[in-house]
Amino acid sequence: MTTVREALVDGKERLANLETPFLDAALLLSHALGISKEKLLASYPDTIPLSALHEFNNHVSKRLSGYPISYIRKKKEFFGLPFYVDERVLVPRPDTETLVEEVLKHIRGKSGMQKNLKVLDIGTGTGCIAITLKHLQPQLRVTAADISKSALAVCKLNSRHLLTEPLELIESDLFSAISGTFDIIVSNPPYLTSNEVAQMQERRWPEPITALEGGQDGLDTIRILINEGYDHLSGGGALFIEAGIEQIDAIEEIFRTRGYQGINSYPDLSGRNRAVSGYKPYVE
Ligand code: GLN
Repeated sequence: MTTVREALVDGKERLANLETPFLDAALLLSHALGISKEKLLASYPDTIPLSALHEFNNHVSKRLSGYPISYIRKKKEFFGLPFYVDERVLVPRPDTETLVEEVLKHIRGKSGMQKNLKVLDIGTGTGCIAITLKHLQPQLRVTAADISKSALAVCKLNSRHLLTEPLELIESDLFSAISGTFDIIVSNPPYLTSNEVAQMQERRWPEPITALEGGQDGLDTIRILINEGYDHLSGGGALFIEAGIEQIDAIEEIFRTRGYQGINSYPDLSGRNRAVSGYKPYVE
């Protein structure tokens, strides 16, 4: 008979070469046992049912091969909310929380002026941006769009679990099926270069390529977002985009060229700029 403690120690040792062996082992073991991480620590002396031990060992092997822990657990926390994830969608990153925070600051800055701001999240994936915004600011009218039907199915599932009111979901290749204008457009678009993505594919990286690849310089999608997004913004409306550190200057330039004003960049948790915004001027 194996105890929780023994399994945890064993898992931790097998995962020793990963960044966070103990955390990963604890997450996988609590997943196999169907209990919280906190409860796991309180269950050290208990013995593990064989089926759970078997599942745990399989998951440790999968994790050892580099498979993301969030796909194994089918869960990722974003802004304190538990999002369902699987291979149909990109796993939400902490960096994107920074983007959401900036959008929230922007909304709060508009205090009282407009209550029912219209927000569009392009390339929503899990829905982490759109759903978090709607969860924290229920008065917003939020539309979430994605080119992938299967990503939208995941977004729908998350919105059912995490929201009391549904989001508007649209299957759309960027703006192709979007009509009307918005006060805020936000996106975590694909922005990796083709080279970077080719390397990930060589490693059989399981996340959807459409959510990652932004062409030769990684900016293909971002150019369209900035150029076409302008026509989908109301006067004074703002576009917020996440990108890679090295892309920020080029993106600010694309914003300027298209006629946006108040162009701003925002640092991620490591202090390096990772998001850009600009607004469409009011017409006199
Ligand atoms: N930050 C992601 C990564 O490095 C890329 C996400 C994206 O392209 N939107 O894997």
